[in-house]
Amino acid sequence: MSLDASRTEPRPERPASHETRRRLEHARTTSLTQLHALAADGHTDEQLMSTQKTAIEQTLQDIDAALARVKDGTYGTCRSCHTPVPEERLEILPYTQYCVTCRRRTAT
Ligand SMILES: [Zn+2]
Repeated sequence: MSLDASRTEPRPERPASHETRRRLEHARTTSLTQLHALAADGHTDEQLMSTQKTAIEQTLQDIDAALARVKDGTYGTCRSCHTPVPEERLEILPYTQYCVTCRRRTAT
């Protein structure tokens, strides 16, 4: 009989959650730095500047949303198809809300 006798330890809640939070905090710091750099840069191209600013602010919102999902335990699950987002993708884009397939589908 090879039932799960070895699995007596309680499963860790979210093994990667500490690392995830660290990653998200890092991404947020990076975005804030970019935002400040943008403001201090004195770009003459206001159109470009405002586009970049909007993009960074969007990223910051995504990061905050991701941190909230870490808290409520839904982090790492695609918001559209509800399948787990691959770890490699989360490493590159820790604040993503969709798996590659759904992202492609929702991308404009
Ligand atoms: Zn999906």
